[in-house]
Amino acid sequence: MICGKTYQPDEVTYVCPDHGHEGILDVVYDYEVIARRIRPESLTENQDPTIWRYKPLLPVEPDAPVPPLTVGGTPLYDAPRLAAGLGLKHVWVKDDGRQPTASFKDRASAIAIVKAQEAGAEIITTASTGNAAAALAGLAASIDQPNVIFVPASAPQAKIAQLLTFGSTVMLVDGTYDDAFDLCLEAADAFGWYNRNTGYNPYMSEGKKTVSYEMCEQLGWDAPDVIFVSVGDGCIIGGVYKGLYDLLQLGWIDHMPRIIGVQAEGSNYMAEAWEKGEDVLTKPPIEAHTVADSISAGLPRDRLKAMRAVRESQGAFITVSDEEILTAIPELAQKTGVFAEPAGAAAYAGLRKAAATGLVSPENRIVVINTGSGLKDVASAMKAATMTGAEPYRIRPALEAVRRALGD
Ligand SMILES: *Cc1c(COP(=O)(O)O)cnc(C)c1O
Ligand SMILES: [Zn+2]
Repeated sequence: MICGKTYQPDEVTYVCPDHGHEGILDVVYDYEVIARRIRPESLTENQDPTIWRYKPLLPVEPDAPVPPLTVGGTPLYDAPRLAAGLGLKHVWVKDDGRQPTASFKDRASAIAIVKAQEAGAEIITTASTGNAAAALAGLAASIDQPNVIFVPASAPQAKIAQLLTFGSTVMLVDGTYDDAFDLCLEAADAFGWYNRNTGYNPYMSEGKKTVSYEMCEQLGWDAPDVIFVSVGDGCIIGGVYKGLYDLLQLGWIDHMPRIIGVQAEGSNYMAEAWEKGEDVLTKPPIEAHTVADSISAGLPRDRLKAMRAVRESQGAFITVSDEEILTAIPELAQKTGVFAEPAGAAAYAGLRKAAATGLVSPENRIVVINTGSGLKDVASAMKAATMTGAEPYRIRPALEAVRRALGD
């Protein structure tokens, strides 16, 4: 992504040799060959709802064995009440809280598993704020693949519980996600482990791009006008763009949607770089603090692909406060039935802000991606519910008590 040099898949493992850790690679496809292997019509007949229905568009061999968990095929819900509340007409919620380990990260980890097996890896490793780890842990468990996970000790309990339950070797790092990331890279080098890290392993955005295939297919190949997605490392937004780019090259969609990257005010590296026109290769890390742990990243590891996504799609980066993120959780839940973790709700908080500032117009067809289930972070959900004034009635087990509670 820095120098534009191209390599054959067997020439390099992760990054551009000339550019070291920063040298994230982008997978390049031969769309003419792909067009002969897969068409929208052939997909209509394909009963497989998972990401593997798009196998000819993925960087895996046609006969590569894939993990058994059902990754992808998440619902795209029409959300008329949510739309109406914002003065909009067409809003859909793509609910990736419905993935097997309850976050979007399963899309990437599924690819990591296949690539690691292809490489004959004995151990896979990743650093993560929590969800990428849980995704790798679950998918690895599904094929009995040993793995070592690095997460900040401050990760939400539910995510750590998933790791331990799936039987991963868990390193709780006394430090930030950025510390865990650097340590994981060092350990992978030292011990020869297969490295799934975001913004390092070029195949992760290839898994994540499947969300764009799905939403466009679910909309009858009539691409939306605007997509809202939250941004931490920037791998998801880069993947969203890549998927749309592929579809445009194949001629399956006729326009590139605007992609809006939503960041937390306290973790606004990309938004700041975007506003000020800064070079993300030289911009120093920031101190990241936000309730949305999954998008807390001082140095977004996939910042080149994230910036490309917004620039090439004529999109934007915007920020929302922690309070706006928390308020968005019950609002999204009550208007759609989708329960999101803070980083997932952040995308909706971004749409709410964009509707208020005129960044989107009433006629726009808009997709909001929920990237993670609310069950991932119950403490934040309780806090958000409390902020709305919602409170349970504490009662004796008697009908009389129910009557009194209801004010009869
Ligand atoms: C990882 C994650 C994000 C952000 O994805 P990046 O690729 O880091 O930008 C957003 N929401 C959830 C729930 C996540 O787990
Ligand atoms: Zn290079």
